[in-house]
Amino acid sequence: MTDLPRIPLAGVIGHPIAHSRSPLLHGHWLARYGIKGHYIPMDIAQDDLPQALSMLPKLGFVGVNVTIPHKERVLKLAEVVTDRAALIGAANTLIFRADGKIHADNTDGVGFMANLRQLAPQWQASQGPAALFGAGGAARAVIAALIEAGIPEIRIANRTRLRAEVLQADFGGRLVVYDWLHAGEMLDGAALVINATSLGMTGKPDLRLPLDRLAAGTVATDLVYTPLMTPFLIEAQARGAHIVDGLGMLLHQGAPGFERWFGHRPEVDEATRAAVLGL
Ligand code: NAP
Repeated sequence: MTDLPRIPLAGVIGHPIAHSRSPLLHGHWLARYGIKGHYIPMDIAQDDLPQALSMLPKLGFVGVNVTIPHKERVLKLAEVVTDRAALIGAANTLIFRADGKIHADNTDGVGFMANLRQLAPQWQASQGPAALFGAGGAARAVIAALIEAGIPEIRIANRTRLRAEVLQADFGGRLVVYDWLHAGEMLDGAALVINATSLGMTGKPDLRLPLDRLAAGTVATDLVYTPLMTPFLIEAQARGAHIVDGLGMLLHQGAPGFERWFGHRPEVDEATRAAVLGL
């Protein structure tokens, strides 16, 4: 009997996983490009992670996306880790290589930058300082990407100041830490303002910082994408900022994995947004 080519499988692993929009995204791309393949959400408990990662390639998986709570731990289980994933300390994309090795990457920063390039093409990293609210995992990815893009200065404020200071120690002198109570001062002369906290998400309190120093024309972006128009973006827009919502970052961060697994570089456009929003 002749061997038929294996249909490539990919998916997303996390715990819980039901909330993930990645199956909608990759399912949309697979259908759009007529690719024979499947993308499956998989709920994998912490204790089962090493065993799952050793089994998935044998079952026909070519790679997976990784979400909470496995993003840090997969770095230790991968044989090959990209520089940016090592710098960020977390991975969101795994490739199961033909030689049996697991390759771990972090594409959150790529997604962040691609979203800005697409929806705020007038903004250039060299233009001036960025003001960043938040110092969690997503902030780390944003900082790494902005530094790589040549940003001159990143002003950062976080409720827990120590976390921002740790980032400054890790990423160096281009980071300037502000106190959370004075976070509004970071906006003076900033060319880009980013909310990388979870504030403004459905079910969480709003990001309540004074935006009176936000100049008209400044680019303001929120990593939160549920809701798409966060209270921060609504106020920034009312002050004349050019706003960019966080959905595009989610869509663009998925593209490198899709291309590696299924061999086609996917587009991020209105149809992609609509598919992920379930429209
Ligand atoms: P994380 O590591 O848990 O960090 C959460 C951040 O929010 C920390 O800076 C935390 O401050 C701050 N925060 C939480 N509650 C707060 C409160 N009540 N007051 C002030 N600050 C508060 O989470 P993450 O992974 O960085 O994600 C942050 C957000 O980005 C989430 O909403 C996530 O969904 C979103 N995200 C979006 C994308 C995308 O593709 N668009 C990608 C990644 C993440 P403390 O340090 O003081 O706790």
